[in-house]
Amino acid sequence: MPELPEMETYKKLLSERVINKQITKVLINREKSINVEPSLFTQEVLNRKINSIERRGKYLIFHLDSGKCFLLHLMLGGLMYVGKTEDDSPARTKQIIIHFNEEHLSFIGLRLGYLHLHSYKEINELLDKLGPNPLSPQFTINEFTGLTRQRRGILKTTLQNQAFLAGIGNCYTDEICFEARLLPTRKLNELSDEETNRLFSSIKNVLNFAIDSGGYIELPLFTGDQLTGGYNSLCKVYDRNGENCERCGVLIIKESISSKKTYYCSNCQK
Ligand SMILES: [Zn+2]
Repeated sequence: MPELPEMETYKKLLSERVINKQITKVLINREKSINVEPSLFTQEVLNRKINSIERRGKYLIFHLDSGKCFLLHLMLGGLMYVGKTEDDSPARTKQIIIHFNEEHLSFIGLRLGYLHLHSYKEINELLDKLGPNPLSPQFTINEFTGLTRQRRGILKTTLQNQAFLAGIGNCYTDEICFEARLLPTRKLNELSDEETNRLFSSIKNVLNFAIDSGGYIELPLFTGDQLTGGYNSLCKVYDRNGENCERCGVLIIKESISSKKTYYCSNCQK
């Protein structure tokens, strides 16, 4: 599932491509991916422009020049692709295609994911329960320490709880725990001050590094896209069971923790 770095990469690359271009056609192949009648959706969107794109947690918000917004969640397996011409398009089923004259933005694999139309006020209400953005400069060690004291859960589940922090999922939880040298089964409220500091720095470092590297989505966003997916080969534990830990050489383990696939080093994570 795309997480904060993947959505941030999409936001950055899409902002360079679809902003201020007029929407000339909308194709809806799967009505369940939207939240209103297709005719109303088309009517609201046609001839509009996208003014800006905002990310919150794993969501993207596309601000239309009418004041309405798209709320996108890719869930499991959702992808996007921007084609320059009619034939520039991956051989995949597209649930929604938004055209900007020749160019088009395709939404692929939206089985659980969706592209909903809302007012900004509705979106703020819908996303009201999201926890802080871990990369916000206002999110400090003091705020983080305060949050961890109230949490009895283990790292593996709490870091993925969107009401605790917005944007972290299965892969980055494992990468953050590895970087912080903490076992994913540790309880947040039992960490020492030093361990809490290490965890806080690791959250920021791992997410920022993954954004700079382009996240782990495998499909490029457009032909010639060199950024998307760059983090895939840089994961240190995720999907690397049976390989040697780059810090201590011991084999990386894969285990199910709270029914979630978990990868870690049992030697140098304590
Ligand atoms: Zn190790």
